[in-house]
Amino acid sequence: MSGANVILVKCKNCGTMNRIPSDKMNLKARCGRCKAPLELNDFAGGVPVTVTDANFEMEVRQSPLPVLLDCWAPWCGPCRMVSPIVDEIAREMAGALKVGKLNVDENPMVASKYRIMSIPTLLVFKNGRVVDQIVGALPKAQILNRLRPHIPYS
Ligand SMILES: [Zn+2]
Repeated sequence: MSGANVILVKCKNCGTMNRIPSDKMNLKARCGRCKAPLELNDFAGGVPVTVTDANFEMEVRQSPLPVLLDCWAPWCGPCRMVSPIVDEIAREMAGALKVGKLNVDENPMVASKYRIMSIPTLLVFKNGRVVDQIVGALPKAQILNRLRPHIPYS
């Protein structure tokens, strides 16, 4: 990937994927095709999305991009170390990787389905399947090393 990050935003109205420079993502962006306003939740990259039991299927399993899912809980100290790293990765890999955060306390269905025994756990999904599972608060460089084989253009 070259230069400034470009964020892919899918228009809810017409389905067009819009390419928005990451430094413009706080502006009121509109769809290039139908002019409908684009919502922050539509970003396919750039900022982590909040994943829940309810939207897991749509946000993670049906994502056209690989997904890094940060499974965390508010009481978990190491999770607070990983969280800003995950935010950085979301920014740096916008357009190539989607990043989500899932509170395991509030979303027991996903947590038990993927047998998340300790947190933080980072699950890497590709085409709806887990291709890697990173347990514990690893340094950013190690997380990136684990991600690279699964992500195009990185
Ligand atoms: Zn549109």
